[in-house]
Formats: sequence, C-alpha cells, structure tokens
Amino acid sequence: MAVVDPLNPPTLPEWRARVQVEECKWDGASLRGRPIDAYVHEGGWYTQDHEGRVHKLWLSVRCPKCGYDWSLNKLGVPRG
Ligand SMILES: [Zn+2]
Repeated sequence: MAVVDPLNPPTLPEWRARVQVEECKWDGASLRGRPIDAYVHEGGWYTQDHEGRVHKLWLSVRCPKCGYDWSLNKLGVPRG
C-alpha cells in the first residue's frame, strides 16, 4: 500500500485510513476520528478529489489537546 500512482492516487478518506499512529506523541491525546487538514503544497501527497482531479496536498491531523499539526509522514504514512 506504500506505492502511490500519481495518476490515480488515494482520496482524503483513503489517506486517512492509512494513518498508523492515532495518538499525539506529546500528550497522548487520541487522534482517532480526527479529520485530515489539507492545503496545496508541492512537497505533499498526491490526492484525488471526489471528481477524480489530482492535487498535491500537505496532509496533517491536528491534535485536539495541544493543537500540534501532525503531518501524515509523522503518523506512519509514507509520501508514496
Ligand atoms: Zn497533542
């Protein structure tokens, strides 16, 4: 599952499902069920939207306790 086809990359929910780490490393708060925040970033993850358009997005999950933005690579998701 580590290999990503840039022409047919995961959707945001599919990226969310790849998250391996569901706790904040700083305070142990659960990240389970927290949404992915995404913005356009050249160094990010190929992602397709619900209309099949491909974007390169920086993907992160915000800790509800300390507010730290955990980028997906820190949550065990390779950039593909
Ligand atoms: Zn935290």
